[in-house]
Amino acid sequence: MSDLANLSITDAASGLRAGEFTSVDLLDAVTERAAVTEAHLHAYLTLDKDGARLAAEEADASLARGVDLGPLHGIPIALKDNMCTLGLETTAGSQILTGWKPPYDGTAVARLRSSGAVITGKTNLDEFAMGSSTENSAYGESRNPWDTDRVPGGSSGGSAVTTAVGSSFGSFGSDTGGSIRQPAALCGIVGMKPTYGIVSRYGLIAFASSLDQIGPFARSVADSATLLGAIAGWDRFDATSINAPVPNFAGSLDAGVVGLKIGIVTELIGEGIDPQIIAATRATADKLADAGAEIIEVSMPSTEYALSAYYLIAPAECSANLARFDGVRYGHRSSVEGTTEDMMAHSRAEGFGPEVIRRILLGTYALSAGYYDAFYGQAQKVRTLVRRDFASAYETLDVLISPTTPTTAFPIGDKTADPIAMYYSDVCTIPSNLAGDPAISVPVGLDEGGLPIGFQIMAPSLGEEVMYRVAAEVERLVDFTARPALATSEVTAP
Ligand code: GLN
Repeated sequence: MSDLANLSITDAASGLRAGEFTSVDLLDAVTERAAVTEAHLHAYLTLDKDGARLAAEEADASLARGVDLGPLHGIPIALKDNMCTLGLETTAGSQILTGWKPPYDGTAVARLRSSGAVITGKTNLDEFAMGSSTENSAYGESRNPWDTDRVPGGSSGGSAVTTAVGSSFGSFGSDTGGSIRQPAALCGIVGMKPTYGIVSRYGLIAFASSLDQIGPFARSVADSATLLGAIAGWDRFDATSINAPVPNFAGSLDAGVVGLKIGIVTELIGEGIDPQIIAATRATADKLADAGAEIIEVSMPSTEYALSAYYLIAPAECSANLARFDGVRYGHRSSVEGTTEDMMAHSRAEGFGPEVIRRILLGTYALSAGYYDAFYGQAQKVRTLVRRDFASAYETLDVLISPTTPTTAFPIGDKTADPIAMYYSDVCTIPSNLAGDPAISVPVGLDEGGLPIGFQIMAPSLGEEVMYRVAAEVERLVDFTARPALATSEVTAP
C-alpha cells in the first residue's frame, strides 16, 4: 500500500470517491511509510495512531453515507507541534510543555477536522518555532530526507519532512520569519505563508504575534491551495484576523503568466546567496519570460535591513508572549524550594532551551526603558520602510521573485555555534513577514550535491490568487519530479 502515500491530495481525493481505496487505506499507507522513515528522520513527536484511525473510519463511514466534506475528506494530514490539539500532547518542541494536553483545538485544527481531514500526529520543530534547522527542538533534531546528515530546515522541519517522504499527504507549519518556506525549500516541496490575518492564530502557541501565520506544506501547488482553503477565513477568536472574503486560491492555477509583470529583487540575488541558487532562480525567471511574463529587475533597498529589524521585533514579542510560562499559569514547575520568584526563575531556567533564553534576553533588552527607542523603535521604523518598499513595488508589479534560501540544506551542527549564521538562513523570507504579505516556495531543481533548491514568489496582501497562478506556472515549466529515496518503498528501517 505504500505507493498510495505518494499520491497528490487531488488524486487521493478522487480515488477515495471512485472507491479505489478508503481513508483507512490512505492512513495505513502513511503509517507504513512513517514506520520506515521515522528511524532515519525523526519528523514526528507524536503519532496519534488511535485518534487517526477513528477519524479515518469515520471519514469512510460518512462518505459511504453520502456526506462529502470536500477535498480533504479522509486525507491524512500532519500538524506542527505548536498547534493546539484537544487532548493530544502539544509541546512546541519545549521541555517546558512536556505532557501538556490542550483543552481545545485551535481554529485551524478545528477547521481541518470539520473538512474531514485525518490528523496523523504532531511534528517536530525548533523550540517555540525559534530556529532555522529544527536542531533547537528539546526532543532532538529532525533530519533531511535528501541527506540525513543535513538539516531539514526549520522551524517547521518535521512537518516539511513528513510531506516530503509521504508520512503525510500534506502538513501545516507556522511561518514567523520563514519557517514554512525555508524547510519546504530544503526538502524539495511547496510551502507557503499566507497574508497576515487570513488564517486565525487562535490556538497557535504564540512566538511573535505580529508576524506568526499558519500555512501549508504540499507536494504540489494545487494541493497547497486546497490545504490553505480549508483553514483560511475570519475568526472571531483572533482579533487580528481579516474580516473579508478569502481569495479564490485555486481560481487561476491554469491561467498562465502572459502579460504579468514580475519583479526580481536585486538585493536577494547577489552577495551571500549560493551561485547555484542564483543560477536556478535566473533560469526559472527566463522560463517565465519565455512563457509570456515581463521580468523586471527591482531594487528593494530596505530588505537589507529587514533581517536586523526582525531579530529585534521577533524577540521583543517573544519576551512578552513567553512570560506566561512561569510554572503557575503554564508549564513545568521547578521543585526547587524558595520564594515564588525563585520557583518561577527555576521553572523557566529548567524548562527553556538556550535559543529561547537568548531570544527572551534579547527581546527584554530591546524593550527596556533606556534602549526602547534605539532598538525596538528603530526596528519598527525599518518595518515601515519594508512595507513601503513592497507597496511601491506592487504599484507596477504583479509579483516579486527571489531565491527562498541563501543555501541548500546545510550539515547538522554546521551553524549551531554561530547564531548569526543561523539567522541569515531567513534573509530572503523575512521581508514578506515584516510586510504581512503572502509568499510561496516552489522547488525548481537540485544543486550539484543533489539537494533541492527553492524559488520564492511574493505577492501583495491578499494576492494569494496571483501568487498561486505564478507558482503553478513555475511548477509546469520546471517539472520538478525528483523525490528523496526515503519517499519510496525500497528503503527499509535501519
Ligand atoms: N528562523 C527564524 C527565527 O528563528 C524564523 C522562525 C519562524 O518563522 N518561526 O526566528
